Amino acid sequence: VLEMKHIKKSFGEFEVLKDISLEVNKGDVLSIIGPSGSGKSTLLRCAVNLEKISGGKIEYNDKLMADTNENGIVTYAPKSQLKELKSTYGLVFQNFNLFPHYSVWKNITDAPLNVQKRDKKEVEETANRLLEKMGIANKKDAYPCELSGGQQQRVSIARALAMNPDILFFDEPTSALDPELTKEVLKVIKELASEHMTMVIVTHEMSFAKEVSNRIIFMENGVIVEDGTPEQVFNSQNARTREFIGKYN
Ligand code: ATP
Ligand code: MG
Repeated sequence: VLEMKHIKKSFGEFEVLKDISLEVNKGDVLSIIGPSGSGKSTLLRCAVNLEKISGGKIEYNDKLMADTNENGIVTYAPKSQLKELKSTYGLVFQNFNLFPHYSVWKNITDAPLNVQKRDKKEVEETANRLLEKMGIANKKDAYPCELSGGQQQRVSIARALAMNPDILFFDEPTSALDPELTKEVLKVIKELASEHMTMVIVTHEMSFAKEVSNRIIFMENGVIVEDGTPEQVFNSQNARTREFIGKYN
């Protein structure tokens, strides 16, 4: 689904991503762990084109988003192709990022109707199904400020899924939630995993990562230190990986 090759990203002189390569295949549930400031959010933001890369190549389903030539010049695909690619991925943020002046219903249906220009009846059916699935069917007409953090996050997952993405990215989806609400959000992500939704999840929830993912990446200082199955990563002999995981166990 996604291929990122030799990704570099600098803010001024500061190189945040140093030659990151990763591939996400259909049905993969990939967790990304690593200390604060290691570049996890930047990597996701580059993947969904919220941030421009400084080098490397990004492809979705063999369609180019960005590439770098032999002179190190990065070029992005034409606007029309970038727009088309937008329907292949969704992103769920730490702080929900719902439109505060839109109802739950409008938050979920707006982009499918007005950006993707899909059939109204089909979008409404999809939205109703997702509201049901996320356990928020009774909150359809509520505004984000009237919901708990856990409910808001489930709305933002529904909103992302309503676009029918091939891959869903989560950036610390539960870090703004208390333990009880965290549980309900992790539960819906687990459900999606059991349905083989392709997902990339940045998380500090180690036991969740271990349970839900088929692959874990440990990042530090803008490089991938470790990329393997949960068993491999949790039993790693690498000193840095062990130290990091040890802090959370
Ligand atoms: P956390 O676990 O705290 O969310 P992270 O791994 O997601 O950390 P990033 O947010 O990707 O880390 O940030 C990586 C580094 O890049 C940090 O040192 C940060 O200060 C820097 N950085 C991120 N965004 C910008 C920006 N827009 N301008 C300048 N520096 C930035
Ligand atoms: Mg982050």
